[in-house]
Amino acid sequence: MQFRDLKAQYKALKPEIDESIHEVLDTGNYILGNPVSELEEALAKYVGVKHCVTCANGTDALTLVLMSWGIGEGDAIFIPDFTFFATGEVVSFEGATPVFVDVDETTFNIDTNKLEIAIEKVIADGTLTPKAIIAVDLFGLPANYEEIEKIARKYNLKVLEDSAQGFGGEINGRKAGSFGDAATTSFFPAKPLGCYGDGGAVFTNNDELADLIKSYRFHGKGDYKYDNVRIGMNSRLDTIQAAVLKVKLKAFEEYELADVNRVANKYTELLKDFVRTPAVSEGYYSSWAQYTLVLENEVQRNKLQAALSKVGIPTMIYYPKPMSQQRAFAHEKHFNNDLSVTEKLCKQVLALPLHPYLTDGQIKFVCKNISDNII
Ligand SMILES: *Cc1c(COP(=O)(O)O)cnc(C)c1O
Repeated sequence: MQFRDLKAQYKALKPEIDESIHEVLDTGNYILGNPVSELEEALAKYVGVKHCVTCANGTDALTLVLMSWGIGEGDAIFIPDFTFFATGEVVSFEGATPVFVDVDETTFNIDTNKLEIAIEKVIADGTLTPKAIIAVDLFGLPANYEEIEKIARKYNLKVLEDSAQGFGGEINGRKAGSFGDAATTSFFPAKPLGCYGDGGAVFTNNDELADLIKSYRFHGKGDYKYDNVRIGMNSRLDTIQAAVLKVKLKAFEEYELADVNRVANKYTELLKDFVRTPAVSEGYYSSWAQYTLVLENEVQRNKLQAALSKVGIPTMIYYPKPMSQQRAFAHEKHFNNDLSVTEKLCKQVLALPLHPYLTDGQIKFVCKNISDNII
């Protein structure tokens, strides 16, 4: 059994993907060829925003937004303590300070009460200027943007939606990637919508921001390629990856997102009576980047993981360590925020195999082995 079966997906889409890749090879436009702009248009339409600007990966997408906002030394950026490293890395990379905020125990997303406490603390401390919140749609579930945007307005902060794991999710029919002042996603192969290498994108309704990001991703270009008006990056999505994504976006819309929800719902139905299964609040829709159980404690979690591994069921621990405890952030100013939920979750979580091509038989096999080893 595969944790995320990318080969099964390729098999299902092979003729169309091969044809799409070969079209690029035949035209020879390997950098920013037509499929890139066609994909950007399709993605913007899907998400329901004015602009989609693709780039080399999800980490660069975050960096491009922070660069465009002029984030740098002396700025405080609030991020969840329970996320993938890149969310905080990009902040330190720009010379700003990531301020870690605890997450909600049931949604795994940033705790908005603790967010406000953290902002007040930074203001009282007075050494940093609060500038932005990076909210993460962890494991596919959108963060609580109604509350986050309220807090952002109160303290005059920008909101960046890190939807690397959230593409396809929704809140009351509004798609992930459309929240905040800007949003980003990743097309890393194992993300909800993945390509066959690295890729990423920025989404925004702001014309000026979209133009700036197009400049920053291409060596800070001005009117044309050899007119350079700012220090930027080389961060473009390859035409071949765009060609792959065009085919995969169609499959994602037509059945993959529905199928991954079918798998997640089946897991919940079979597991909810004896283990804590992931919650999806009323009005929310998840794209299920991960299906994450919360076990009683570290001993039970590790025992279960070992038992499942023995029968060939791969599982993952996302994430074993809070951001605030990463050595890479040891030099950053810490504010003694209450991060107790993240600390607990890191010892309790276990992600199960999940992808649109998982069969009912496989789901039942996983659930039976969980029940056999838990009770
Ligand atoms: C994967 C991920 C990223 C980074 O995306 P890459 O394409 O791997 O650079 C950023 N944030 C979160 C939450 C992620 O899961």
